[in-house]
Amino acid sequence: MKIETLAVHAGRQVDPGSGDVAPALHLATTFQRDADGGYARGFSYARPDNPTRQALETCLAQLEGGKHALCFGSGSAATLSVFSTLRAGDHVVAPQECYHGTRQQLREIVSPWGVQVDFVDTTRVETIEAAMRPSTRLVWLETPSNPTLRLTDIAAVVRLAHARNAVVGCDNTFATPVLQRPLDLGVDIVVHSSTKYFGGHSDVMGGAAILRDDARAQQVRNFQGVGGGIPSPFDCWLIRRSLATLPYRMRAQCMNAAHVARFLESHRKVERVLYPGLPSHPQHALAQKQMPGFGAIVSVCVRGGAAAAMAVAARTRLFIRATSLGGVESLIEHRASVEGPDTLTPQNLLRLSVGLEHPDDLAADLDQALG
Ligand SMILES: *Cc1c(COP(=O)(O)O)cnc(C)c1O
Repeated sequence: MKIETLAVHAGRQVDPGSGDVAPALHLATTFQRDADGGYARGFSYARPDNPTRQALETCLAQLEGGKHALCFGSGSAATLSVFSTLRAGDHVVAPQECYHGTRQQLREIVSPWGVQVDFVDTTRVETIEAAMRPSTRLVWLETPSNPTLRLTDIAAVVRLAHARNAVVGCDNTFATPVLQRPLDLGVDIVVHSSTKYFGGHSDVMGGAAILRDDARAQQVRNFQGVGGGIPSPFDCWLIRRSLATLPYRMRAQCMNAAHVARFLESHRKVERVLYPGLPSHPQHALAQKQMPGFGAIVSVCVRGGAAAAMAVAARTRLFIRATSLGGVESLIEHRASVEGPDTLTPQNLLRLSVGLEHPDDLAADLDQALG
């Protein structure tokens, strides 16, 4: 079935007892044992598994084209679940430009375990190849990247990594399975921050790891159930509710983002627009090959420096000044100042998360803010 149909129906059924059409919210932390001490209904205690989380996991596995999905309390916990499978002596190749929390995990949590990490420009496959060692266990990708929206050729990296017995993980948060299918391209583990497009309304945090391999899934499931970084049933229920509209939200937000990107590219106060859907994007051809849509994040470098960029963000009325992305409301953020002193992000860059408002209103707001 197509993703629109799965988004509505996967992991859902009419409740056989009550006839509820909408999914139930199961708040129980513990479940009744059978007379013989067993758990024939499959649930014992809500940390290892519960019905509301299971329904969300079933849905996410199908949306992403995986066999197993494991949900966490945040995207960061989902990322750490993948890194938890690394052992002392293992080597990781990760993107120079990736979500700053992921970089921080690798530096501050994973490296002290005795894992070696190299941060390289993953947009060039040769650079990944040059960084690989016999001990390379994991190649981590994030494409499109945050915040300059550079792409990595997923299929090419998978060929390279698998030839050297390394696993490929991909953070698919910016694209979602609507726009990019890493597992179909051979990636071993996909990770999402469900806080973004999956939740879609800036009101719930969550994360997920999705994969096909049973043994690897068992390791991640162990980190989930024993490590305990689980989402609440209500958060799972909210995310499942939002997923029904994900394909249509993505489509509309991509159209709005393309409109905003074209408008900005024609504006005299703008130095450069970074959006994979623009023919001026250096990897537009790869974007067309790898993604059926180009996402709803647009980064814009304004003329002048950090102060000029801050001033534009200070004047927007519809775009809300806030971090995060993927909600129905459009956000604007001066990214370098959020990422801290070691940031590689240009000081005049503003990252826009384009929402579901009318694109003419969004363009008009940016026009008055640019002045
Ligand atoms: C937000 C984000 C994360 C982290 O997710 P949280 O839910 O905030 O922990 C990871 N990767 C990307 C690309 C993100 O945008």
